[in-house]
Amino acid sequence: MVAIKKEVEKGKKAPVGFMKAVVYEGHKQVGLQYKEIPKAEAGEVVIKTTSTTICGTDIHILHDEHKVEKNRTLGHEHVGVVHEVGEGVTGIKVGERVMCGSCTPCGSCYYCQKNLSSQCIGPEGDFKTPGGWRLGNTIDGTHAEYFKMPFPQYNLTKIPDELSDEDVLLLTDIASTGIAAAENAQIQIGDIVAVFACGPVGLCAIAGARLKGASLIIGIDGNSQRLDLAKKMGADITLNFNEVNVVEEIMKLSGNKGIEVAIEALGKEETFQQCLKVIRRGGCISSVGVYSGHVEIPIEHFASGMGDHRIVTTLCPGGRERMQQLMSLVIQQRMDLKPMITHRFTIDEAIEAYRLFEHAEDQIIKPIITF
Ligand SMILES: [Zn+2]
Ligand SMILES: [Zn+2]
Repeated sequence: MVAIKKEVEKGKKAPVGFMKAVVYEGHKQVGLQYKEIPKAEAGEVVIKTTSTTICGTDIHILHDEHKVEKNRTLGHEHVGVVHEVGEGVTGIKVGERVMCGSCTPCGSCYYCQKNLSSQCIGPEGDFKTPGGWRLGNTIDGTHAEYFKMPFPQYNLTKIPDELSDEDVLLLTDIASTGIAAAENAQIQIGDIVAVFACGPVGLCAIAGARLKGASLIIGIDGNSQRLDLAKKMGADITLNFNEVNVVEEIMKLSGNKGIEVAIEALGKEETFQQCLKVIRRGGCISSVGVYSGHVEIPIEHFASGMGDHRIVTTLCPGGRERMQQLMSLVIQQRMDLKPMITHRFTIDEAIEAYRLFEHAEDQIIKPIITF
């Protein structure tokens, strides 16, 4: 896509045919640029963004922990309206309020057919490059006034009028991921569940554990504001790791039996090992953290491999049906994600939003950027 070399003028519209976009400009460099508004070719749909948010993964990209092309538009979460519909796309009209998951599966490849939409390799894909995560990764993302939605017939989800952008924005990624961590753990009614780290995904995992019928949900973090939010999202007890020995406390709470499910939502060896220390025989570690480096398994807590433990990992499930299911939880008031939106910005203020989010300043959980 063509970009024009011109300083973006704040408070003014982009030149005709162009839009404002937040892009990865290099190591720890995020910039606001003018880019050409995308055009819908056959089978494609262009969305006009109304709201978007920043994800931890966008920060991983800025830190070069996940490689993308230079000048790639960032972002994979959004709410918007249909701006242009390409030839051959049916059932979708210009002006409809829509969204899609942050993973945008093709619906037809090996993994999609195996119900693993997040691992989609695309219709002609090869197995070396799995990944249903395309927006803001392999194609331009949602931190722009317009973007192309991949495989719209499979992903585009209409939003009922009674739901606001803020009601549904967080469903696209963190809710789908966090709730899937609880689903994949196969939490049973009455289980004790501990969630290690109460960032956005951990908070959604708490909501998921509540929906799955856990009897006691323990939220763990070092930040007291996040722990307060954990209670709002459904935690019964919170533990601050700066104040207590988390493993000892959880063992006490379980009558020294150990708990059924520990959800790792940070991606650190230390928390992974703590999960292993607190689950009982037959218990499950449900891992949604994104790891770098390596993770060692302490064999004494792994019963030398004879403990009937389960370790499952989860990447954000996508697709229209997934989004509709999550949306039904909001419509039926089973879940409210709005308390997680702590900061509001315009596209012109997006660089400041990144700065706050990157450094976790001002008790930020999730910022919303509106257009
Ligand atoms: Zn994300
Ligand atoms: Zn696929």
